[in-house]
Amino acid sequence: MRTLIIGGGAAGLYLAALCPSAVILERNDECGRKLLLTGGGRCNFTHEGSPEELLSHYYGNRQFAKKVLYSHTPDDIVAFFRSLGVAPRNEDGRIFPSDEDAHTVRDALLRKAGKVIKGTAASIRYLDPGFAITLEEGTILHADIVVIAAGGAHYPHTGSDGSGCRLLASLGHAITEIYPALAPLNLERKLTPAMGISLKAEIRTGKHISSGDILITHNGISGPAVLNISRWVNDSHEVSIRFSDDDIKELRKAFPKKEVRNALDIPQRLSDVLLGDISAKKLGSLSRKEELLIQEAIGSFTSKASPVSSAAMSTRGGADTSQFNPMTMESKLISGLYAIGDVLDIDADTGGYSLTFAFASAYQAAMAIR
Ligand SMILES: Cc1cc2nc3c(=O)[nH]c(=O)nc-3n(C[C@H](O)[C@H](O)[C@H](O)COP(=O)(O)OP(=O)(O)OC[C@H]3O[C@@H](n4cnc5c(N)ncnc54)[C@H](O)[C@@H]3O)c2cc1C
Repeated sequence: MRTLIIGGGAAGLYLAALCPSAVILERNDECGRKLLLTGGGRCNFTHEGSPEELLSHYYGNRQFAKKVLYSHTPDDIVAFFRSLGVAPRNEDGRIFPSDEDAHTVRDALLRKAGKVIKGTAASIRYLDPGFAITLEEGTILHADIVVIAAGGAHYPHTGSDGSGCRLLASLGHAITEIYPALAPLNLERKLTPAMGISLKAEIRTGKHISSGDILITHNGISGPAVLNISRWVNDSHEVSIRFSDDDIKELRKAFPKKEVRNALDIPQRLSDVLLGDISAKKLGSLSRKEELLIQEAIGSFTSKASPVSSAAMSTRGGADTSQFNPMTMESKLISGLYAIGDVLDIDADTGGYSLTFAFASAYQAAMAIR
């Protein structure tokens, strides 16, 4: 065959929809298993804005991402889906299909795509020219062009278990260190009794800050602000959370008879967990030491933290982008070898940015291969 796409996920399907003569090799019974989970099943498939506006949400090699995003912008992605009959719905800049069903996105791509073979690529050999791909059960496929679209190394039950990186490494490609990204955090100082509370907060780790909605979970914290900072927690292993901007001295002056937990602008249950017995004290009765304790607990609650790898929605690290041409996605080491989507060392914030890169990189490869 001429072109084999290893992986029928978001990137592989987009490429196949643009290049229907390409054959997809997918290990799962159905293509796009992860795509169906995106956006809580609603698929936040891109984000409104110019490539320039989007760029600050990408990590890894930003110059590489820039070239890819400029060639196929969010507007182009929306236009392509419109051409497939998928109308967009804009929610504060995040773009979903208007029926809010990820199946609509997956099925529209699948209708345009060509042949799909079920199987797992176990190894790959460069024949110069062309490739021999050995499947797990022993069958050998031959292809002139191979596109590695096998995803990152997290959420393995959807099929992306890092095998794309292993295949590329076996062909001599460098793989940068892999960490979980877009993951909830486990905290050493648990806030379990406040589980279920969601609120706005600011989280810091090292020199990185993220603010927005956080959710207190059984073992730690989750929510968009947490997911976005999780990639950096791998470096410092500690977070500091500002739950409230309240100034205790000011509150004490204004409401001396109020209980602390009724005066703070955080839920009472969280106040009780953070402050223990002090939470029920009257503001006017606080000692100086207690005041300082409260100020620290609500303004810079610090704990050791670790990303929950099994729940990471993305991967930091992957195939070293300096070995690929961002205008074609072709390997600079091996002619006819391409890589697109999460397998590359590019990751992004939540908000439709990851799929935007998966689709835009698939477009680059499609134009080059066509
Ligand atoms: C729960 C969740 C929600 C998300 N929500 C969003 C969102 O709303 N918006 C957004 O932009 N991003 C979201 N993401 C991220 C987004 O899903 C990924 O960025 C995107 O799916 C990457 O596409 P991909 O094709 O590179 O990889 P994948 O979609 O992971 O596809 C890789 C495919 O390759 C197959 N495969 C792997 N190895 C082999 C092999 N050896 N042989 C054959 N097949 C193989 C896998 O089975 C899989 O089907 C979310 C991720 C998760 C987990």
